[in-house]
Order: sequence, then structure tokens, then C-alpha cells
Amino acid sequence: EFYLKNIDEKNLKLNAFVSVYAEESLQKADEVDLKIKSGNYGKLAGMVLGIKDLLCYKDHPVSAGSKILDGFEAQFNGTAVQRVLDEDAIIIGRQNCDEFGMGSTNENSNFGPVLNAVGDHRVAGGSSGGSAVAVQADMCLASLGTDTGGSVRMPAGFCGLVGLKPTYSRVSRWGLIAYASSFDCIGPITKSVEDSAILLEVIAGSDEQDSTVSTKEVEAYSELVPEKKSYKIAYLREAVESEGLQPEVKAATIAKLDFLKSQGHTVEAVDFPLIKHFLPTYYILTTAESSSNLSRFDGVKYGFRAANSKELITMYKKTRSEAFRNETRRRIMLGTFVLSASYYDAYYTKAQKVRRLVKEYTDSLLENYDFLVCPTTPTTAYKIGEKTADPIQMYLGDLFTVQANVVGLPAISIPNGEDNEGMPIGFQIMAGAFQEKELLAFSNAIL
Ligand code: GLN
Repeated sequence: EFYLKNIDEKNLKLNAFVSVYAEESLQKADEVDLKIKSGNYGKLAGMVLGIKDLLCYKDHPVSAGSKILDGFEAQFNGTAVQRVLDEDAIIIGRQNCDEFGMGSTNENSNFGPVLNAVGDHRVAGGSSGGSAVAVQADMCLASLGTDTGGSVRMPAGFCGLVGLKPTYSRVSRWGLIAYASSFDCIGPITKSVEDSAILLEVIAGSDEQDSTVSTKEVEAYSELVPEKKSYKIAYLREAVESEGLQPEVKAATIAKLDFLKSQGHTVEAVDFPLIKHFLPTYYILTTAESSSNLSRFDGVKYGFRAANSKELITMYKKTRSEAFRNETRRRIMLGTFVLSASYYDAYYTKAQKVRRLVKEYTDSLLENYDFLVCPTTPTTAYKIGEKTADPIQMYLGDLFTVQANVVGLPAISIPNGEDNEGMPIGFQIMAGAFQEKELLAFSNAIL
């Protein structure tokens, strides 16, 4: 009732939820109450969750923030969704996001932009903007978002929350509408590190439905006991000393590094000369994968179909032109171009090679250090509409988050103060593959 009341009061303005399952949630809450009384209840009993509009929840609408899936309902539960339900979580609604997860501000949605609950007309961050603002404004306790290049961490950073992208393959992607399949990860957005750890414990683990998912054992993430007293931490010199950083973000990051030193950790700068390749690699490979993944939306099998077409090809064209937004069309065209016969080697193959180099270099750093840290984003949340006209400016905001997806490693954004106008600043910590337990314990200890 508390969360539904907040949704009633705030959602019209903030636009975080696109569907609210009020009656169903109240009924489920009564059932959970009974279970608790009987002493037999799941790990998430009573946890009120929202899910991003990219996750399939049986018999509920799912549309990836897109008109192309208008009227479509999921026929099954995605694995992560099934697992939270099995542990008695209550799913209160479906959350706004950038179309197919393509965006950094949640302004690229068929449902309109999401507003940050802090500041004057500021963006929420994207693409899981609805998922972040819903937690920020107490419209649910926690959310499940997705992160292909920062979409959990960036909105968490912009909204003063904890956002975790697990290791690629830690969480099954079954029932997650694909953007770029070799990058996509489901991750929690929460107020505390503890809630993040509890959720990861529930959603992680092997799954017959996803052949890429890891069979590695799921650890007791929520214990939150750091293994070491003192950690070796590296920060990317290019990221922290960069000219492009908003001064308050820089100051807050340096203050955090000083704090870590004062706590007895070793903190050293490392050079990452490949940093200039992060964004081109990410945007070549993700657009390639998305152009292929989105080819299934043709007006035949799902959701929306344009009216008045007399033959098949015209129907495909009209449907896709009318339903996909500009940014999504741009990415489909770019992806189709880099995969085309004459350019495949020049762009796609080359980007795969660079991906490998970035991975090898990152792995080699993480052999010597426990964690790699930097600000989550170069700036705090800016005004709605400020960067929509210039996609390159928008993409530059992803500079620090995409690395974790390019290399498949876990990374978290935790709150690190705010700027002069009260907008939250995020601090990102990346760890080696499957080191979520240490990553969460350390994050909790330094918050
Ligand atoms: N902003 C990035 C993009 O637009 C990341 C999105 C995501 O992680 N889904 O691709």
C-alpha cells in the first residue's frame, strides 16, 4: 500500500512505471503475509520489486519501450523473474526504459522520458531510467534492470543508488528481450548493497534455457564480509584525470580515493591507453548485434503492424519505419552497415580484435589489483533534452561504463556524494570475473 500510494502520487510526473499491477500486488501481499505467519516463506518475502520493460513476465505486457511490441504479452516468465517470484517477491509493475535498452537518459522511449526525482527537470539516466527512479522515489523497494553498456550503473549513479552489473553469464538471459546478446546482463538497482547482494543470490545461477549461462556455483553474496583487510586498487588515470570530467565529479572521485588510502588500501594510478577504443568497439559490436536481434520485429510475429500495406515487403518497411524510433533506426542502419559484406572485416572483425585486446589488458590489470575504480559517469544528470540532438555527446557519457560489458566483468555503481546542485555522483568499482562476492562486500564496507 505504501508503494502504491507513492506511485499514485508521483508517477504521473516522473513516468517511471508504464504498468502498475495494483490489485494483483495487494493480493500477492496478502498471500505472502499468510506464508510468513505459517513460517514457510521465500527469501524475498514481501520485497516489492519493479521490472524493466525488457523482462518477460507471463501474461503481462512487455514492449521494450517500443511501439513495435504494442499489445504484446509475455507467454512465459524469464528466468530471473521466475526466480524472484519463487522467493515470494511482489512484482508491482513494469518500468519505463529506452527502446530496446538503447540510450543513456531514458528519453528514447515510446512512453516518453523518465524524470529524475532530484533536481529541476533532469534526466534519470538510461536505459533503465524507470527502474532507478522507481527506487529513488520509493515506488518500489528494488528493481531488476538490464545493463548492456551501463544501463543499470548509469541511472543508479544519476539517482544516488546502487546498481550492479554481474559478470556476463552469471544471470540467465532467458526472457530478457535481446539488445546485444554478448553484452546483455540483468542486474539489480537498490538503495543498499545488501539488497543488491540478496537479489543477485536469487537470480544468479545455471539455467537450461540459456546455453551461455555459467554453471559456476552461486556464492553467499549477502554475507558481505570482505576477505581482506586491505585491497589493491587501481584507478584509470585517463578517467580520473580527464579534462572532460565535471569538476565536482573529479573532486568527489579523488576524495573517495583518498578515503580508501586512509582506510589502509593501496591505491595506484594505471594507464589504459586503449580507453579511446572503448566507445567505438562498443558501438560497432552492439549495433551489429542489435541489427541482427531486431530483425525479428517485422510486423508478422509480434505486436504492432502498420495498416494499409498491400504486399509483404511494403508491410515490413512500413511497420519498422513507423514503429522504431530514430535512435533505434540509426543503430539498425549502423549495425547493418558494419556487417555488410564489403565492410565486415574493416569494422566488425576489427572491433572483435580490439575487444580481445581490451579484455586481455583489463584481465592483466586485475591480476595485479583487486579492483579497478573510476567515476561511473563523467557528469551528473543533465537537463532533459540537453543532449538529444547530438548522439555522439550522448554516447560519450558511456565512456566509463562500457568497458565492463566489452570485457564481460562485474561492476557496481555506488553513491559518492552530490554536486553543487544536489545531483548524485556515482563511483564505479570493477572486479575480476565471478568476483561478485568480494565486490559487494568491499562496496558495502566503503559506502
Ligand atoms: N547507453 C548505452 C547504449 O545506449 C548502454 C545501454 C545499455 O546498457 N542497455 O547502448
